[in-house]
Amino acid sequence: MGFVDDLPLPPYVTREDVVFALRAVTVHAPERPNGARCRKDGAAHPCRLHRWGRRVLEKRGLTDEQVQRLIAGGTVALP
Ligand SMILES: [Zn+2]
Repeated sequence: MGFVDDLPLPPYVTREDVVFALRAVTVHAPERPNGARCRKDGAAHPCRLHRWGRRVLEKRGLTDEQVQRLIAGGTVALP
């Protein structure tokens, strides 16, 4: 997969990048569970910023489960 308009990833994902990425993923969520549109910008979900956030978190080594826990307000020992 892959989109030509994807935003570039930071070369090294810092804790600050993780915070930004989590915010992007949380704010750029679907308008309702399993919705097809981003509730922030109305683009098709997952929108560009949501994809960027996911890729940053993946690059940092966080699993989907850990990301879900962080989104829910839980804590995770960052890899
Ligand atoms: Zn969005």
